[in-house]
Amino acid sequence: MGGALRMSSEFPAWPQYGDEERTGLIRALDQGQWWRMGGSEVDSFEREFAEYNGAEHALAVTNGTHALELALQVLGVGPGTEVIVPAFTFISSSQAAQRLGAVAVPVDVHPDTYNIDAERAAAAITSKTAAIMPVHMAGLLSDMDALAKLSADSGVPLIQDAAHAQGAEWNGKRVGDLGSVAAFSFQNGKLMTAGEGGAVTFPEQSQWDTAFVRHSCGRPNGDRGYFHETSGSNFRLNEFSASVLRAQLARLDSQVAVREQRWPLLSRLLSEIPGVVPQAMDERSNRNPHYMAMFRLPGVSEERRNAVVDALIERGLPAFAAFRAIYRCQGFWETGAPNETVEQLAARCPNADAMTHDTVWLHHRTLLGTEAQMHEIAEVLADTLATS
Ligand SMILES: *Cc1c(COP(=O)(O)O)cnc(C)c1O
Repeated sequence: MGGALRMSSEFPAWPQYGDEERTGLIRALDQGQWWRMGGSEVDSFEREFAEYNGAEHALAVTNGTHALELALQVLGVGPGTEVIVPAFTFISSSQAAQRLGAVAVPVDVHPDTYNIDAERAAAAITSKTAAIMPVHMAGLLSDMDALAKLSADSGVPLIQDAAHAQGAEWNGKRVGDLGSVAAFSFQNGKLMTAGEGGAVTFPEQSQWDTAFVRHSCGRPNGDRGYFHETSGSNFRLNEFSASVLRAQLARLDSQVAVREQRWPLLSRLLSEIPGVVPQAMDERSNRNPHYMAMFRLPGVSEERRNAVVDALIERGLPAFAAFRAIYRCQGFWETGAPNETVEQLAARCPNADAMTHDTVWLHHRTLLGTEAQMHEIAEVLADTLATS
């Protein structure tokens, strides 16, 4: 391995920050009011984030998992209901439904876009289905035309897991403008971050009102008499995080512009390597913030994929093994699992099952690198596959 081809330069660091975040943190500090009640940072961030994503209303919360949980609860998900989720996703998608006492029903994804298959979602609808959760994998929007039609025909609401999709557009419309609730994450690796954090956008004021009460221990805004009107929990974001997120939001467009230039180039170069198939694009997903650079090595074993990831890391690439199908995680089975075996689910979800062992992703900071680095990434990957 001594002479192995490796990256000759570093990628930009993540997270990115500067004087805007510093100024924001001091501004929040000097307010002397560090939670959202009576402060202005969370309120301002909610307005700015809603507008950015084309939504009428946004509620900031503690993290993306809580964003999903709160959004599902607003849609009426609870014990006795089912939520349809893609089998290939980060586990929060199913965990949020399961925490509410609902059953998470995995359905397969497309093998090329890695997004939920609307026909399979349609086939999984029962009288108990309370929500369908498309996850916009790596910033590529799910087929929102087919899903909107499915939702209209079935009466089952959509909840978009938009943890990867800040600023994404479908046919020129932002995620918050597609008629359904959307949940976002601001965890450290996400496209904008305060270390932790989340938000939900809502098409309707009444949904925001319900969510506000529930995210604050069931307590109405301005309540001084401890009238807890509903059940709930404390999912409130603090003022410091919101001040950082306002600065991060202001950085997003320029970062998206760079990644949107880099991905078509990298994707073309990757597709020229034998045995490598990059995530497909969809013209209707016309603005893609590119949360990950993902590709498959179809047919490889999990051991081989993991060895490739280790070799890429050794050669200077921030590479990761992708998610495993959610039903292949022990935690999925603890509560709220469907009445099926792993084998039955694997047979129903062949694409997610294959992706569990053949899919790789690169951190989005790679796509903030130079054009020359895109060529180097492809050269390093080709050399790794040929020689290791
Ligand atoms: C990151 C992520 C979440 C959860 O967000 P947290 O802020 O980490 O709780 C949910 N869904 C997907 C697809 C994610 O990638």
